[in-house]
Amino acid sequence: YASNFTCHVKINTDPPSWEEMGRVFATNGIRPGGHYQPDGCQPRQKMAIVVPYRDRQQHLQILLNHLHTHLPKHSMEYKIFVVEQAHPNIFNRGALFNLGFLEASKNYTFDCIMQHDVDILSEDDRTIYACYRMPRHLSGYNDKGHYKKPPKYHFGGVTAIPTKMFESVNGFPNSYWGWGGEDDDMSARLQVHGHTIFHHPVNIERFTLLKHSKHKLNPFNIYKYFLVNANPYKETMK
Ligand code: UDP
Ligand code: MN
Repeated sequence: YASNFTCHVKINTDPPSWEEMGRVFATNGIRPGGHYQPDGCQPRQKMAIVVPYRDRQQHLQILLNHLHTHLPKHSMEYKIFVVEQAHPNIFNRGALFNLGFLEASKNYTFDCIMQHDVDILSEDDRTIYACYRMPRHLSGYNDKGHYKKPPKYHFGGVTAIPTKMFESVNGFPNSYWGWGGEDDDMSARLQVHGHTIFHHPVNIERFTLLKHSKHKLNPFNIYKYFLVNANPYKETMK
């Protein structure tokens, strides 16, 4: 790949303390609530960035430090919403994105809703966090996948959907408990509404994944049910 070294973002996987992060955020003009507005220019877009979260504090510190260090360079307006699942049972990523959307709508207006896993970091400053007319999958090319082209339908990790489009497909499903499926369901929703997922080329859009143990695949996961029992494309989806 043709990498431009000056655009390479330094990945800091050793986060400073919350206090130190607070100082960095204040220097970068981050307001309370994880809100950034460029000074002296009108932003082209306002984003709500939703991070589904439970029990990964180190990753959260690394991510927030990374985003609030690099995103202000892009002169967009954004606000980060960390949605923590209190329910001790199996995780529900799709429902947390819907909750994030609803909570964000209460006190913030935004053109673009982004879904952001807590463990994924952008490596290139030319990757602008923003929505296009098509839904975007930003983190398709990543170190874990050896920066290989992702399948067209993939829609996990870091994604961006215009607010109106998110509403028109009725958000994420709430019914996928446990690992997997909610991202493919959203991908299918977008597809049946006639939207094609957009990727930038790998030379300007690359991500690093932080390591963790795998979260539980629910044996009753509706996704697994479809994959095994009801999906005529199951061979091609694996
Ligand atoms: N997540 C979390 N705590 C959990 C499980 C999931 O915070 O116990 C969130 C977190 O944002 C994570 C995302 O859900 O990045 C996707 O889950 P995970 O990273 O386990 O799945 P992967 O896609 O890496 O297999
Ligand atoms: Mn992960």
